[in-house]
Amino acid sequence: MRVLITGGSGFIGSHLADAYLERGDEVFIIDDLSTGSIDNIQQAKRNPRFHYTIDSVQNYPVLAELVDTCDVVFHLAAAVGVKLIVESPVRTIETNVRGTEIVLAAANKKKKKVLVASTSEVYGLSEQVPFREDGNLVMGATTKGRWSYACSKAIDEFLALAYWREKKLPTIVVRLFNTVGPRQTGQYGMVIPTLVKQALAGRPLTVYGDGTQTRCFGYVGDVVGALMGLMDHDDAVGQVFNIGSNEEISIGQLAERIRELTGSTSEIVHIPYSEAYEEGFEDMPRRVPDIGKIGKLVGFQPKTKLDGILQQVIAYHSERI
Ligand code: UDP
Repeated sequence: MRVLITGGSGFIGSHLADAYLERGDEVFIIDDLSTGSIDNIQQAKRNPRFHYTIDSVQNYPVLAELVDTCDVVFHLAAAVGVKLIVESPVRTIETNVRGTEIVLAAANKKKKKVLVASTSEVYGLSEQVPFREDGNLVMGATTKGRWSYACSKAIDEFLALAYWREKKLPTIVVRLFNTVGPRQTGQYGMVIPTLVKQALAGRPLTVYGDGTQTRCFGYVGDVVGALMGLMDHDDAVGQVFNIGSNEEISIGQLAERIRELTGSTSEIVHIPYSEAYEEGFEDMPRRVPDIGKIGKLVGFQPKTKLDGILQQVIAYHSERI
């Protein structure tokens, strides 16, 4: 199979590329290196079945040719990371909405199957935990920058589903919950690489708010397996799937665990959200996926536990200090 991955030198995209190469497929990626890194594809670049284009998905002729060359498309290119989103809302909205419009239009020409990556952010302030795919999405005010990410991704979802209903373009939507593992950088605000790097450097660990907010961290290798399973399954088309882990932990406990596993003596400091992000920033107190739907369809079960993930992330950053 010839697989196109937009955002293929990003954190998740590069792991997905490696997994397809391992399976014996041919992989094409396009990435503008805005948040992705060439380091992530160093290993893949040595494989003759790997092809990379450094460009934006918004360069239509380039993208259209890649889509024509491939059998299926994973659209992972997007502006990600809450910090980046709050700091660059124009870029977030434009990248996420235009990019998806262009990818779907190009794929529609020859009806190439597209999997569009959305995010658990779309559940927003919903209190219906664990979140189910058919549950309500609860957005905050448009004056709060954070919600531009959720809304831009919700539009991507609507568009992907509309292409299926109206034009019979086979599309699949996935909502990725907090995904972590080696190659994820803390540069865009993600908590695990940020805390691990702080612990290794002996700097204070920054817990935002009171640290009682919870998340479930899914291992990138498990997530990649789920993405491949959905792409291979005919019945996934026209549907939305949560992908993530359901092992819930508070950010305060996470910081403690990282300190223990790194053997660090760094202190844990609490930083108000208004200082960490922006005035009036709203965080979600709990985020837990219901993963029953994808479990039932493709047998997905998160295998890697948080401690195992943290050990890998610590090893990855230890080598890079
Ligand atoms: N967070 C934190 N310290 C950091 C970075 C993030 O306490 O240095 C918190 C953040 O406020 C959120 C959680 O960790 O409650 C997860 O943040 P991340 O950006 O990784 O993902 P999100 O769940 O917000 O998409």
